Amino acid sequence: SIETEVELIDKLEILPLYVPREKYAHKGIYGHSLIVGGSYGKIGAVTLASSACLRVGTGLITAYIPKCGYIILQTSLPEAMVICDEDEKNITKIQYDIEPKAIGIGIGLGTDAATVKALKAFLKTNKAPLVIDADALNILAVNKTLLKSVSKGSILTPHPKELERLIGKWTDDFDKLEKTKAFSKKYNVVVIIKGAHTITCYADKLYINNTGNPGMATAGSGDVLTGMLTGLISQGYDSVTAAILGVYLHGKAGDIALTGLGYQALIASDIVEHIGDAYLDLF
Ligand code: AMP
Ligand code: MG
Repeated sequence: SIETEVELIDKLEILPLYVPREKYAHKGIYGHSLIVGGSYGKIGAVTLASSACLRVGTGLITAYIPKCGYIILQTSLPEAMVICDEDEKNITKIQYDIEPKAIGIGIGLGTDAATVKALKAFLKTNKAPLVIDADALNILAVNKTLLKSVSKGSILTPHPKELERLIGKWTDDFDKLEKTKAFSKKYNVVVIIKGAHTITCYADKLYINNTGNPGMATAGSGDVLTGMLTGLISQGYDSVTAAILGVYLHGKAGDIALTGLGYQALIASDIVEHIGDAYLDLF
């Protein structure tokens, strides 16, 4: 529609958004992030997101996972703290005694009936901004009334299939963007439409990202983005800025990782490993 504002995002647009680290910083300043996800056979998604969250600069990270992931996570990522659900294989209750500044939720979660129930109860009481991805999106798509309970400042990160479940089938790209804008306004959420040219949508504003490459079409790539976005909100970025900056850095890290690897060999952990280089490229 005519009121749409479109901005192309490249390094020049990112530079003024970036907030440098303070000399007298301590980890409390940069927020406690919580990643809620995982199920039997899908704990790796939480490891990837949690390490990405750390690399993007969160002060502290806790992963909330089913019991079967305890040793896996504590072994693969010593920097992370872990809170376990009482269930072995699925998340059945989302309860914790920490005060996270941002919560990434949905990756590797599965859609077990008990998990759906836990997510419903959680959304009704949670006030912290969320980064909602993967199975949490799928659960919301079949329980649309729940979208009204999503906390202020939340980001949704659907890939094309997940987006279709949320907004319905579209006829062309223009229609897709109109439907996404209407959805963003209705539920007051930031929507990141993931793809080759990821678009961040907030109400009538669209931000088109210019980093990233087809090597990133690989398992876990989206989980890394979820962790990064969560870690940026924890550090104090508002959700629109976190979305624009996070999508840019994620793509940039993937572009830098590509050197010496090539499209086929690039895997999601390589993106995590190069988040630092993506930051360094800003200077
Ligand atoms: P997911 O499907 O949830 O694993 O997310 C995939 C991630 O990789 C998203 O951040 C996409 O934007 C990114 N991605 C996938 N395919 C491409 C591509 N062809 N070019 C650039 N980025 C991509
Ligand atoms: Mg995904």
